[in-house]
Amino acid sequence: MNKLSFPRPRQSEIGERLRSEVREFIDGWHGNRHGAAAFSGFDPEFSEALGKRGWIGMGFPKRYGGGGYGLAERLVVLEELLAVRAPIFAHAVAERQSGPLLLRFGSERQREEIVPRIAAGKCYFCIGLSEPDSGSDLASVRTRAIKVDGGWRVNGAKIWTSSAHRTHYMVLLCRTAPASEVRQAGLSQFLVDMKTPGVTCRSIVNIAGDDDFNEVHFQDVFLSDDALIGVEGQGWQQVTSELTFERSGPDRFMSHMGAVEEFVTALKQQPSAEGARTVGRLVAHLSTLRRMSRSIAAMLTAEQDAALHAALLKDLGTCFEQEIPETLRLVLPTEPEPGASDGYSAALANVILHAPSCTIRGGTKEVLRGIVAKSLGLR
Ligand SMILES: Cc1cc2nc3c(=O)[nH]c(=O)nc-3n(C[C@H](O)[C@H](O)[C@H](O)COP(=O)(O)OP(=O)(O)OC[C@H]3O[C@@H](n4cnc5c(N)ncnc54)[C@H](O)[C@@H]3O)c2cc1C
Repeated sequence: MNKLSFPRPRQSEIGERLRSEVREFIDGWHGNRHGAAAFSGFDPEFSEALGKRGWIGMGFPKRYGGGGYGLAERLVVLEELLAVRAPIFAHAVAERQSGPLLLRFGSERQREEIVPRIAAGKCYFCIGLSEPDSGSDLASVRTRAIKVDGGWRVNGAKIWTSSAHRTHYMVLLCRTAPASEVRQAGLSQFLVDMKTPGVTCRSIVNIAGDDDFNEVHFQDVFLSDDALIGVEGQGWQQVTSELTFERSGPDRFMSHMGAVEEFVTALKQQPSAEGARTVGRLVAHLSTLRRMSRSIAAMLTAEQDAALHAALLKDLGTCFEQEIPETLRLVLPTEPEPGASDGYSAALANVILHAPSCTIRGGTKEVLRGIVAKSLGLR
């Protein structure tokens, strides 16, 4: 089979009906709006309201609180939320990858206790992968869990952990056996309650002045045996499947749509052929990326390996996001100003500050291209 074929996604009639319901819900939402900011609005009230409507964990089985829909329907809801910069960051990681991870590899107890709370929009997760000396090269993580009576004792540190200070759990990747010739062996994943004694967070302020991510330290943290997710030593295989979920969704190419919308509004005041061409080009790219994402959702539903496809989409999608501020300001120059009353100026400032991180978070573009090259036998 051609490794790089993107199967035709199915059209979801249910999804298309949901699309108008989501739009109505957002129009009537009177809580916080995150305005021009990219997808980082963290709003428990909004997450809970979505959970009540069954729009979180739509693909989870009904017995674990999910909607019993397919991933195609989930994408419809997600793209509508992203299009208006709805504040979904509180539950986003849990619903995108931690819930699916627990459903696939977790114990029955972990699934029963946690997945319904994720679907209700009441339980948030962070991702404990990167460390001060290992970001891209996950096989070199040094945080160590040592077997003790009744559980594990963890020591080490994670870095760049988004929302660690305000989430309930972390999925922690750490070493449970000494490094060997097979570098990916001896890693395991654990479910860590962020209130466990010995877990501390130190905030890192990003270039935009937000305190979204953290350094997380583990000092003699005791985790009971039932905190292990899946199989001891299989952490690498498990995390690879989790990263496919992380890399293949519309949040990897739609986080700067707010600026595009403001650009279109501003362009109406001073229309130009160049402006029209720019909008056409952006829409064409967006629809291709969207088609790829829906195709990967179809592959995941059919339980096919989509790691290569997800790496490719994440690379193309985040490069697209990164180009947006450059493209827009050449066509419609303005002084970018955070928080300005002029929506275009504020949105442009916001995406200029966030753009550099797009091609780093979730795997850098160089690393993703390495995965693509290797999967295609080119390296
Ligand atoms: C906004 C944001 C949020 C994040 N949230 C989280 C989070 O919640 N949890 C988490 O665990 N991490 C998170 N990260 C961390 C992110 O995943 C890492 O920063 C990323 O994996 C890169 O690791 P590093 O910073 O150690 O850089 P390094 O791995 O040291 O890379 C430095 C440079 O070398 C290049 N490079 C490295 N290896 C190779 C290679 N094999 N081939 C070619 N080039 C290579 C990289 O592309 C990069 O340009 C976040 C990062 C950002 C920016």
